[in-house]
Amino acid sequence: MNKSDSERIATVLEKMGYQRASKENEADLILLNMCSVRQSAVDRVYGMAKKFAKLKSQNSKVKTILTGCISKKDFQKFKEKFDYIFSIKTLSKWPEFLKNEKFHFYPNPRDEKFVKECKAEYLKEKPKLEKNFSVFIPISTGCDNFCSFCIVPFVRGPLVCRDHQEILEEAKEAVKNGVKEIWFLGQNVNDYKSPSDSSINFAKILKMANEIEGDFWIRFTSPHPKNFSDELIETMAKCQKVTPYLNLPVQSGDDEILKKMNRPYTTKQYKNLVKKIRAAFKKYRKGLEKEIAISTDVIVGFPGETEKQFQNTVKLFKEIKFDMAYIAQYSPRPGTAAEKMGDNVSKKEKERRWKILTEILKKTALGKNKKFIGKEVEVLPEEFKDEFLIGKNRHYKTVKFKGNKNLIGNFVKVKIIDALPWGLKGILV
Ligand code: SF4
Repeated sequence: MNKSDSERIATVLEKMGYQRASKENEADLILLNMCSVRQSAVDRVYGMAKKFAKLKSQNSKVKTILTGCISKKDFQKFKEKFDYIFSIKTLSKWPEFLKNEKFHFYPNPRDEKFVKECKAEYLKEKPKLEKNFSVFIPISTGCDNFCSFCIVPFVRGPLVCRDHQEILEEAKEAVKNGVKEIWFLGQNVNDYKSPSDSSINFAKILKMANEIEGDFWIRFTSPHPKNFSDELIETMAKCQKVTPYLNLPVQSGDDEILKKMNRPYTTKQYKNLVKKIRAAFKKYRKGLEKEIAISTDVIVGFPGETEKQFQNTVKLFKEIKFDMAYIAQYSPRPGTAAEKMGDNVSKKEKERRWKILTEILKKTALGKNKKFIGKEVEVLPEEFKDEFLIGKNRHYKTVKFKGNKNLIGNFVKVKIIDALPWGLKGILV
């Protein structure tokens, strides 16, 4: 989401006459779009603020802006370190704010009046795409789920959805401009409802996007297992432009921990959901696409997580056989319900649990990846390094192969010759 926001910020700053500097020490305006989901990200901002202070001492013209997900506590601390602090939701007013020598305006993101005034207006700003072949299209901003470990509802505010027409216009325009991959973004995409027509939910958005003419892929992130409807499952499986990949965050494999996390589903429900999704792809897709790749997000060392509870997550990992997982070691976030539960699993223990899950994942991911050996897959190359192109296939597997730099951003056919836990190796067909 922050990447997408940065693309909109770039448009506003360019309209003001700014140009992208190639190096930090050549810039006279430095902007940091921060994330506060983990403490390590916040700590990095402190480190960067020190670096910026040095640049400012060498060039008095240099100004610094901080935006992104900022907690109230961090706002107070960062006020002294940055010339400007703005909420992304006030993006259209930034040119006015920047006329001041210094300006710090970061209202409570859940303040009713502020939410009513701003809605999702800043998303109307056209993004200046980082990659001209892949685009992030936010369908909503904010979240009302209040998972007990998560700071997002406090720093991004309540769920506010964009109008479906605006979303689809952005998608059509992107395809017209040659974009090959569209990512629909939301903190919880399956909570989406169009403000102008409540019958338009996320499944309908996928259906309408799938009908846009052109050769492109549709991906999305992130859904919540709690209200993943049958309509959405069927739509995903039937719409051929929707790629066979899903990130479905489970967070824990233990029902007691899920309750403490305020995640309103059980592991049994999660497993049933995965079963249904896998069955739908088997029914409606052909060839390799019959098997959807599923990744997850999980936290180890949540407050009070016992060995037995952790073993339930181990069991779930072995049972589901994820293609990929983003395994986080719990770190308390200020103001969340989990912060009050204490952080009583030691760093060493969290590390041990992380290693155990990573080892299981390595095996399951390798097993899944081996199925691609000898097959031809479509790949969208994204970068070129040491004579190799690196990109993703439709299953969101990283594929590395020799090729020409000018193939970046174009679909190519690659024959897979080897598989590793975290990717595939191939040759251009
Ligand atoms: Fe955070 Fe996602 Fe839970 Fe919302 S649904 S509170 S963004 S983890």
